[in-house]
Amino acid sequence: MSQGELDRETFDRILMRQALDQAHNAWAVGEVPVGAVVVLDGRVVATGFNQPIGSHDPTAHAEIQALRAAGHYLGNYRLPSCELYVTLEPCAMCAGAIMHARLRRLVYAARDPKTGAAGSVLDLFAEARLNHHTEVVAGVMADEASAVLSEFFASRRLSTVAVSGDHSGSSGDRHAGADRDPTRGAGLAGEASELEAQVPPPIGGIEVRFDDE
Ligand SMILES: [Zn+2]
Repeated sequence: MSQGELDRETFDRILMRQALDQAHNAWAVGEVPVGAVVVLDGRVVATGFNQPIGSHDPTAHAEIQALRAAGHYLGNYRLPSCELYVTLEPCAMCAGAIMHARLRRLVYAARDPKTGAAGSVLDLFAEARLNHHTEVVAGVMADEASAVLSEFFASRRLSTVAVSGDHSGSSGDRHAGADRDPTRGAGLAGEASELEAQVPPPIGGIEVRFDDE
């Protein structure tokens, strides 16, 4: 596939679809479903999905995973000819990594009103003192990406209801998911309070937080 054969919008949607596939990989292992791909000359050269909980790594966001894989594959810590497609607006950490990689272009789907650093909470890419390199395109397949996140949090809520009796003694101050749910503010306000109560119980005395930010 080459970009010349397709218009830019169609091209972006095809690649974002592959990032969405990666988001489903995150969901399959119980992580908040965010996925990313790195593209060079119209070809996917690296993929990544969100996995901070399972990898015990607060930096294991989809963008970081994909950038790391791309750097290894291409043998270069700078990726100035590459584009990153990600299903959720990058946080400040990932925006920084994107700038360090000198990416040519960032395309993201859903906005993240909680931690988005590409226009929502703040816009690091608009800061000329930090960034001279990266073109940003927002909103490609945003509805699809938001739906995946909404369905994920809804399914977690359901599963917690199903097992709530098993954990009645460990409610404590459990909370997670709600703060991380980027679909809040996108028409799903009100679900947050429900999500407050559907956090997994502590494992080995360590609270597992879906609010990984
Ligand atoms: Zn991030």
